[in-house]
Amino acid sequence: MAERIDGNAVAEDIRADLRSCVETLTAANETPTLATVLMSPDPASETYVAMKQNDCEELGIDALDIELPLDAPAAELFETIDELNADESVNAILVQSPVPDHVDYREVIERIDPVKDVDGFHPENIGKLVAGYPVYKPCTPHGIQKLLEATDIETAGKEAVVVGRSRIVGKPMANLFIQKATGGNATTTVCHSRTENLAEKTREADILVAAAGVPELIDGSMVGEGATVIDVGINRVDADTDKGYKLVGDVEFASASEKAGAITPVPGGVGPMTRAMLLYNTIKATSLQTGVDVTLP
Ligand code: NAD
Repeated sequence: MAERIDGNAVAEDIRADLRSCVETLTAANETPTLATVLMSPDPASETYVAMKQNDCEELGIDALDIELPLDAPAAELFETIDELNADESVNAILVQSPVPDHVDYREVIERIDPVKDVDGFHPENIGKLVAGYPVYKPCTPHGIQKLLEATDIETAGKEAVVVGRSRIVGKPMANLFIQKATGGNATTTVCHSRTENLAEKTREADILVAAAGVPELIDGSMVGEGATVIDVGINRVDADTDKGYKLVGDVEFASASEKAGAITPVPGGVGPMTRAMLLYNTIKATSLQTGVDVTLP
C-alpha cells in the first residue's frame, strides 16, 4: 500500500516557518497585507476566500476583504484593482476566480500590478517563470513542489506526467518540472483533453500529477508500480450527505493506492499546500516591496 502524503502536516511546518517571517516584517513595521476581491458566481469561492483570510489572520497577516455584487459593471472591479494597486499599504492582491461572464478574467489578471500578483498569473510573472527566474510561483504547483521535497521524492531525472494544461495548475506545474532547479530537472509530459491513450502515458510516470477536474479519472490501472501520485482535483459529486455532495479527487484513491508508492488524499493533500503558498507569496511580495529581508522556507 502506498504511503499517504500528509499535506496538512507539511503545510503546518511551512506555516510555522512563515510565522517567523511575518514577525520579522511586523517588527520592521511592515505587516503584510493581502487584499482579496470576491465577485464570483461559484458558491465554493466564498468558502475559499474565507479560508484564505483565516489563514492570514492566524499568521498575523492583515486581510482586506472586498466584495462586489455579481452584477456590478466590470469597470467597478477594474477601479477596485486600480485602487489596490495604488494603495501602498496593500502588498498582495487576489481576485477570486471565476468572475462573472460579463467580466473578462484575462483583463482582470493583466490589471493587477505584477509585484502584487501573488497568484502568479500575470503574463509578466508567467513569462519570468517560463524564462527560469520565477518571482511568484503559482500556489498549487509550488505547493506540489514543496510537498515532493518534504516527502524526499526526487524529481531530477524522473518521468513526470501532468494531466491537465490549465493556466492555474497544469502549465505552470510542467514548467516547474522542466526547470534546471530544485524540484525540477524532470522529463515532463503534459496530457490534456485531446491526449490519446492517456493510460499509456500515465503508467510511464514516476510522478503523476492529476489536474483534470474529472472525478476519479485516474484509477489503479493507469498508475505505474511505485509511482508518486499527486491528486489536485477537488470535485463535488452528488452524495447522501448533509450538504448533498462530497468532495472527490481526480484519482480513484483505493485502486491507485494499491499501485502507487506514495499518494496524496483529497482532502488533506494538495489543498492545504496551495493555501500555505499563498501566504508564502504574500510574505515574499511584502519583502520585495519594503526591502525587509526574510528567510522563506
Ligand atoms: P481546468 O478545467 O481549467 O483544466 C482542466 C485540464 O484538464 C484541461 O487542461 C483539460 O485539457 C484537461 N482534461 C480535462 N479532461 C481530461 C481528460 N479526460 N483527460 C485528460 N485531460 C483532461 O481545471 P484546473 O483549474 O486546472 O483544476 C483542475 C482540478 O484541480 C479541479 O478539480 C480543480 O477544482 C482542482 N484544483 C485544486 C486546487 C487545490 O488547491 N487542490 C487548486 C486548483 C484547482
